Amino acid sequence: MSNENISIHDFDFNLICEYFTNLERQGPGSPEVTLKALSFIEPLTDTARIADIGCGTGGQTMTLAQHCPGQITGIDLFPLFIDLFNRNAAKHNLQDRVKGITGDMASLPFKEEELDLIWSEGSIYNIGFEKGLNEWRKLLKRGGYIAISEASWFTVERPAEIHDFWMDAYPEIDTVSHKVAQMEKAGYVPVATFILPENCWTDHFYAPQVAVQEMFLQQHAGNPTAEMLVREQRREKSLYDKYKEYYGYVFYIGKKI
Ligand code: SAM
Repeated sequence: MSNENISIHDFDFNLICEYFTNLERQGPGSPEVTLKALSFIEPLTDTARIADIGCGTGGQTMTLAQHCPGQITGIDLFPLFIDLFNRNAAKHNLQDRVKGITGDMASLPFKEEELDLIWSEGSIYNIGFEKGLNEWRKLLKRGGYIAISEASWFTVERPAEIHDFWMDAYPEIDTVSHKVAQMEKAGYVPVATFILPENCWTDHFYAPQVAVQEMFLQQHAGNPTAEMLVREQRREKSLYDKYKEYYGYVFYIGKKI
């Protein structure tokens, strides 16, 4: 890869990051859903070690931290998100218990059996659901929990347009029963699964993007990458509106045995 390509690539990533830093969340979810997932986990103590993997700017991490004790490390690939994450922690006066670090979910900086809880909302797809479950399990103590939200099919069949879209975007999308079976196979007791309500997509994810898109297009007028990014986000939203009965995000909560 030439230097020119590297700089174009970096520029695209910077632009994508800039777009998403304007949003409180970088994926579908809500504080209510974070708390519902937490309700399935046995109470933690002040010494608990928690990781939020693919934390983004920390929307869900701050909710989590306000409702459970222990030390939380947020990890994300993008330094820009981590800067905002740490500012967010300070704003909520959580900086002593909540720290963001830049890192890759494929090589996490934790020791074996160090963690009591692994949290990951809308992020495990970056490593793949099965691979993530298997690799991250080593880092959990026996009896520790994993709570992850993941794109899932609600039906065994679906229209070709949405099937093809997901096969291109994330071929590991699967039905809830298959994901639960993968969780069991990876050595977790499936404690709970639940579908994220529509408002996690509409009110908490797509609605805040409307104003951000207008502002972003003005700031980057004539920039084809920015225009393409906004076009893709709008297409994703229209596909969601059309096909939401066939897919969505599901929270999977498991306990390491
Ligand atoms: N958990 C946040 C939320 O629900 O708002 C963010 C979800 S966003 C859809 C996915 C996140 O995964 C992004 O913040 C992205 O930067 C991060 N990510 C992508 N690849 C990663 C990797 N290899 N290691 C760590 N984080 C990664």
